[in-house]
Amino acid sequence: MKSYREEVWFNTKKRRELINITPVVEQVLQKSGVKEGLVLVNSMHITSSIFINDDESGLHEDFEKWLEKLAPEKPYDQYKHNYAENNADAHLKRTIMGREVVVAITEGKLDFGPWEQIFYGEFDGKRRKRILIKIIGE
Ligand code: ZN
Repeated sequence: MKSYREEVWFNTKKRRELINITPVVEQVLQKSGVKEGLVLVNSMHITSSIFINDDESGLHEDFEKWLEKLAPEKPYDQYKHNYAENNADAHLKRTIMGREVVVAITEGKLDFGPWEQIFYGEFDGKRRKRILIKIIGE
């Protein structure tokens, strides 16, 4: 069995951003040489997410509105966590959107359903953060 590990860094300009990282994962998969197996992609931080959904701008605005209803960024003093940094909302948003995804690799490609794409969801950006891509298989 082959095993391959790579970290990829991000530094978003805005506090919240959704980035389609499917091309990045495909590149790492090519490097790994794995044709049949599994790829795990996870955020290494507790204020950003990895999730799978549609790359459609209207839906991305809907995510932003929905997350702001569930865990509004402001007022900062509504959260007990905000005594050192004002990022309690980012921890909650990350929990809702998830830590990781696992995708099957078949014939050297990501074996997606229709319209599935992998996203990095940043909820407390403007700083360097990384994800882990781990690939196992043959
Ligand atoms: Zn925090």
